[in-house]
Amino acid sequence: MTVTIHVGFDAKDFSQKSGKLFIADPAVQEGLVPVVAKGTKPVTYLNSYNVADQVHCAFCDSHQRHNRGFTVGLEDGSIALCGNKCAEGFFGADTARALRADLERRQDREKQRETIARTFAGIPEVRAQITQVLVDREARSLDLTLVLALILDERAQTRIRAGDVPGVNGRLLTLWTASPRVPRLQAMLRHMENAMGLGLSDTILKRAIDTRARLIRLIEELSDYFAEMDHFMQAENLWHLAEFHRSLPADGASISFKAKGEAAELHIFQPGEGIARYRITKPLAFDGAGLIAMLSRPSC
Ligand SMILES: [Zn+2]
Repeated sequence: MTVTIHVGFDAKDFSQKSGKLFIADPAVQEGLVPVVAKGTKPVTYLNSYNVADQVHCAFCDSHQRHNRGFTVGLEDGSIALCGNKCAEGFFGADTARALRADLERRQDREKQRETIARTFAGIPEVRAQITQVLVDREARSLDLTLVLALILDERAQTRIRAGDVPGVNGRLLTLWTASPRVPRLQAMLRHMENAMGLGLSDTILKRAIDTRARLIRLIEELSDYFAEMDHFMQAENLWHLAEFHRSLPADGASISFKAKGEAAELHIFQPGEGIARYRITKPLAFDGAGLIAMLSRPSC
């Protein structure tokens, strides 16, 4: 059965009146009537509340006190509080459900708008953190893992997976196939920043929510990636890796670990390719959680 919500009468007034869709102080609202005559038709739910100090229901005979309920806009233009459980009894289950669904739709949209407003507010700050240093570091480490993937055969990779090489986590193997994420993240941030000036139609809002979710996933993946690389790119681990490679049947390639004072490098020689050098740099300590927090901060 379909229910038509009566929106003709005074609907405009209610839409102007309606401020917040979640309220903390239901008893203090302009136009509130304490008692509603039987048969008065509801037009809309203006907001909902969940309060510690109970308020009186205007609808039921006993004017039940309650914590959770709705502010109802009525056909005569007045507004009244209705307990969460009373609505169905008073308006009929279908009407109550339809009014509630309509309010929840508006509330969801409001929450999403708030989420996107927070995201937009944080984007310039996040963009400033995603520097060329990160682009270079990611490119360099992807290059290293790719070279390792080329010179370590199936059997060697199986042994790494089994934990035979100290400091070289089997997860490193999955990172070998990663495509650069930092440039992708930069492009998404740029894209979102460009969208900031646009109005938030429902379509754009939905797309922005999706984009935000992808943005956060990408930051989490990067955070994982850099943590793994920070963990791996340490003198001791690279030394173990070089030793491990020396223990494998010779195939012309070689890995050597060179340390001179503070500086340490991994040299990888491949026949026909020459030597690639990878310097050990300070860990990045990429703060993914911090970046995500920047996109979620409440505006003051
Ligand atoms: Zn009631």
